[in-house]
Amino acid sequence: MPVPAPPIRTLDALLPEPLPLMMGVGPTPIPEPVARAHARVLNHLGPLMNGVVESLKDLGRYVLQTGNPRVFGISGPGSAAMEMAMANLLWPGRRALVVVNGTFSGRLAEMGRRAEAEVVTLGVAPGHGVDPERVAEALKQGRFDVVAMVQGETSCGACNFAVPEVAALAQQAGALMVVDTVVTLSTMPLQTDDWGLDVVLSAGQKGLACVPGISLVTFSERAWQQIEARPKPPAQWVLDARLAASFWMEHTYHYTAPTSSILALHEALRLIAEETLPIRHDRHERHSRAVQRGMEALGLEMFAPPEHRLRSALAIRLPPGLDAPTLLAHMEERFNIQMAGAFGLPIFRVGQLGEQCRREPVLRTMDAMGQSLAALGVPCDPRAGVEAAEAVLGEVEVGRVAG
Ligand SMILES: *Cc1c(COP(=O)(O)O)cnc(C)c1O
Repeated sequence: MPVPAPPIRTLDALLPEPLPLMMGVGPTPIPEPVARAHARVLNHLGPLMNGVVESLKDLGRYVLQTGNPRVFGISGPGSAAMEMAMANLLWPGRRALVVVNGTFSGRLAEMGRRAEAEVVTLGVAPGHGVDPERVAEALKQGRFDVVAMVQGETSCGACNFAVPEVAALAQQAGALMVVDTVVTLSTMPLQTDDWGLDVVLSAGQKGLACVPGISLVTFSERAWQQIEARPKPPAQWVLDARLAASFWMEHTYHYTAPTSSILALHEALRLIAEETLPIRHDRHERHSRAVQRGMEALGLEMFAPPEHRLRSALAIRLPPGLDAPTLLAHMEERFNIQMAGAFGLPIFRVGQLGEQCRREPVLRTMDAMGQSLAALGVPCDPRAGVEAAEAVLGEVEVGRVAG
């Protein structure tokens, strides 16, 4: 029996106009040049694409602060970049120490176990960054080939500010250092070379303000030598770093590269380089501070203490008697603003990533939060949030709107 065509629904019928403002922790809004680039398709091989790839790698080296020749894009989510790192550096007989602050760092550990390596986890309380002394202790418990951690743990709003200290310890112990910067790259300082990081990975849809489905990774020379000396290739053919190098270094076929997403990532990285990292970091810090002061003025409390707080993904404690689904539904239905819930913690999360760190989305979100909390019976002055945020931002937009 032939299958008949289904009832046809156009995207115009499926989606509201305008689309919701995405103030969750990814995906995030994209600037116009990224959207335009993403609308085009180019042959994945040949001089035009080669020029784009080389330019993207140069821009990537700036954003990652590295001189590594090996900067690769990956067709896939941030998890694909995590898996490329873990699956290529680990195999049976290898040992990894993974700092686990929450869901995403826990995923790094799981990927190490699936590569059949021996994985030792160092658990950190939710909302806290790791104390490097605990890493030093753990590294004394045996030989480790890899130390892996996240710079920012999105699930609980915690930041591992000690990445440089941990990387120095890893280096002393002869281990490679892997850092997941999916929620932090371009939003706060990261020095791949100066900190001695061996593998740094990130994804498009968070601070880079690009589309989901394209990710980024860089390998140091030290890491690459170990990958070349593997006893056998990883089980993952698509994520085999040596095969990926055929496209990203030699411009030959591995799989059909996602040329539209690569064009989009090129534009996202170009906009970051034009804004410059110091100005972009400052813009993130200031807008995040505006949201934090705004939430506090509405009587809410940050989950992570300031010295462990991730600025780019804010975890905020739910007020007594209010659950996350109720608050999120109200924000979306009344104000067309989306925020994020949590993985089992009494929090909700607001992103301060890329284009979310602009005056208009921040003030609109704070205004809607005040009105939503008041409507849901939380005692507060509904205008206090937007006023406190405005006081931080002042009248001047930090950094120019790119494009
Ligand atoms: C979002 C995120 C990931 C996973 O990215 P996906 O694109 O969802 O696979 C990994 N690590 C961190 C820190 C993240 O925030």
